[in-house]
Amino acid sequence: MGRLFAIEVIYRGIFQKTLAKHITRDIVIAAHKEGKPGISFGRYGDSPERNGIPAKAFAIVATDDETLEEGMAKYEPKEVDITICVDDTLCKGVESWAWYGLQPVNRLTKPNGVLIITSKQNPEDLIPMCHRKETPYRLAVLKGTPSFSGLWVYKDDHTDVRILGAIAKFLPELFSLKSVQEAIREEEKGADLKVTSAARSYERIAAITVHPNQGNPEKPYEFVMPKWWEMREGVAIPSIAQGHAMKDPENKKTGGFQPERNPTFKKWATRTMRPVVNFDTCIKCTLCWLQCPDSCFDVTPEGLYDANMEACCGCGVCEAVCPVKDCVTMVNEIAFKDNSSQWEYWREDKPAYQAWLKEKITRKPERSHGFRFRGQYEEQVPEMLDIAKGND
Ligand code: SF4
Ligand code: SF4
Repeated sequence: MGRLFAIEVIYRGIFQKTLAKHITRDIVIAAHKEGKPGISFGRYGDSPERNGIPAKAFAIVATDDETLEEGMAKYEPKEVDITICVDDTLCKGVESWAWYGLQPVNRLTKPNGVLIITSKQNPEDLIPMCHRKETPYRLAVLKGTPSFSGLWVYKDDHTDVRILGAIAKFLPELFSLKSVQEAIREEEKGADLKVTSAARSYERIAAITVHPNQGNPEKPYEFVMPKWWEMREGVAIPSIAQGHAMKDPENKKTGGFQPERNPTFKKWATRTMRPVVNFDTCIKCTLCWLQCPDSCFDVTPEGLYDANMEACCGCGVCEAVCPVKDCVTMVNEIAFKDNSSQWEYWREDKPAYQAWLKEKITRKPERSHGFRFRGQYEEQVPEMLDIAKGND
């Protein structure tokens, strides 16, 4: 029996799909240079990927064909040598189609395996976002803005080759830097700059050990799917139930309103940015409430609109439609530690809320889905190449 290697790439559906494909494909090609057979595949190759939804791609490599066949008999590896997370906001957990709740980003990472995250944050900032594991693992940050691009374009900012260089460092049994460089030359038709970026990443990347007592201690949200004998006959799709009044008993009479929402599919793992609302300048025009595609806004007793962070997918529509300058501002999701109500905070302590708001809106979203403004990713490529050169 030979050795099996498994690497997963956790990415944002559609926007990073090509990036994940490049990484997993090139892992297999680099391993092949050393006589190891392998295969790369997407976890959701035949399923819809909603914008921003967490998804996975895998590279499975073995020292011989028989071991590879055995490894491929499993739908998804039970554990991986390296987890690559190409968007740091996914550190909070991964919820996707067909997963029954929130998966910790490091769930499949082997004991002493490596979690590589592309981020501008320091490891100390990222560790509290990742759920705790019972066994130690290593965390490495590949410095840079998470590589996002739109549906039809690829942001060729060297993130893929820098990750390959990092894999060669952490898993030399899989392949050497030389094999990575040969694979890049072959795939990218002699891109010397990319070969250099892979080498720089190899030289500079470092990991720290994360111990079982470090990280987010919360139990990840989960739910149980109905058994086949519990399902109704035929195809029945229940409509969304009628909304109900605010649950807070204090406010029953004043008539706040909370729309009914999907009780199982929460959107927090879909978000890379979230809205913050200046309730002091809101003119109660209702536009955010009407236009939000996920029915996120709870109507407060005084007629303000409070974006519910269990439902918000971070699309930015509310910021775009709000007619009051800086009343709704999208903020990098990395700036938040919880999903609590902004309106409750504002109601309790308005000056403190304003100070909080001021600090939050300094954290601009780094990613572009093609919605915020065109060409954002094109502006980021030179910056990323500068980081790849070691000038960060
Ligand atoms: S960003 Fe705004 S519009 Fe989009 S889902 Fe969240 S609250 Fe709704
Ligand atoms: S769109 Fe802006 S001004 Fe209008 S209700 Fe929403 S937050 Fe208030």
